[in-house]
Amino acid sequence: MVTASPLTLGVVGGGQLGRMLAEAASPLGVELIVLDPTPDCPASLVARDQIIGDFDDEDAIRELAKRSDALTFEIELADPDVLEAVSDEFDVPVHPDPATLRTIQDKLVQKHALQDRGIPVPDFRQVDSREDLLEAGEEFGYPMMLKARRCGYDVHGNVPVEDEDDVDNAMSQVSGELMVEEFVPFERELSVIAVKGDDEVATFPVGENVHEDEILRQTVVPARTTDDVRERAEDVAHDVLSTLSGRGTYGIELFEGPDGHISVNEIAPRPHNSGHYTIEGALTSQFEQHARGVLGYPLGATTLRGSIVMSNILGDVDEPEPADLSGVEGVLSTPGASFHWYGKHNVRPLRKMGHVTLVGGDDPATVGESTLTELHGAATDLTDSLTFR
Ligand code: ADP
Repeated sequence: MVTASPLTLGVVGGGQLGRMLAEAASPLGVELIVLDPTPDCPASLVARDQIIGDFDDEDAIRELAKRSDALTFEIELADPDVLEAVSDEFDVPVHPDPATLRTIQDKLVQKHALQDRGIPVPDFRQVDSREDLLEAGEEFGYPMMLKARRCGYDVHGNVPVEDEDDVDNAMSQVSGELMVEEFVPFERELSVIAVKGDDEVATFPVGENVHEDEILRQTVVPARTTDDVRERAEDVAHDVLSTLSGRGTYGIELFEGPDGHISVNEIAPRPHNSGHYTIEGALTSQFEQHARGVLGYPLGATTLRGSIVMSNILGDVDEPEPADLSGVEGVLSTPGASFHWYGKHNVRPLRKMGHVTLVGGDDPATVGESTLTELHGAATDLTDSLTFR
């Protein structure tokens, strides 16, 4: 039953995703308590309270559960075992299902789970030794993508392997358990923000992700591709959703191959950077959908309000320094542009510090590629005009 009496959502992680979740949950009468090791983390500035502790600190998660009506996480480093245990102990629901988090945390297990359900993924295999990698090279051909199976948030865990002579060098650049994938010569990267509710699902229109150095720079919506590809991407996203258990928002990253073939790169069991555009660009944001989903409320409409581009504000500094951004007035005085600042005190090279969205006036159902490319250019220029002093 949905009531307007205040509810408390306990969230493991208090970064920008938690911050935007708190902002979106507030109109529903839902307050957040976040658990994060960093005092004054981005979400703490808009949440009701912060518990300071590590993402796998059992006592801290127990305290979070005691004070919450429902639990979720905004970071993959949350500990699924502890979440499962406290959910039972305090009879507090946790979504998405910790079992889903466990599967997703290990990229190899995640890929196996998708493949077993007939969902298209790039060819992959486990790598325990340089011999395994050499064998994969014979099977897949070069280049290949060597990946750490488990990695921290935005940690650089991927290394291309150019040829046989590059195998040792590549192995020396990644640590922990490894896997390798064929290199997908993709036309573009796409993503679908998908939501599971109580007995219903919803997907947002397919977005196109522009990466540089493997870091998301912009998301263009709708994606500049064919209707066929967009339809296939949505179908695959629905198939992926059916493999996941637990309610909430998921980010599904896809490759569009040269022949329009769609394969899944990876899944995030939480709101996703490529879904930030939904705050201004859709009738319900991915964050509000996450709150609705986790609490078992009806989901909102995912219709676009216009064509839209989201552009990340990344730390363009060489060394960490106090964050002092200038040029913001240019964004604020541009019609259709919105500015989001995550409240991080220090800027580091390529750290996600905020984002800009630019909504275009065109009907997203009919907007042409060149108009989207202009909007993409304008949003990129706006972010490029911002500098850290
Ligand atoms: P992370 O977990 O660090 O985000 P991903 O596995 O999503 O890492 O990879 C980051 C980026 O690396 C992707 O967005 C894509 O640009 C590139 N990439 C990853 N896997 C492949 C692949 N098999 N073939 C080609 N490029 C890839």
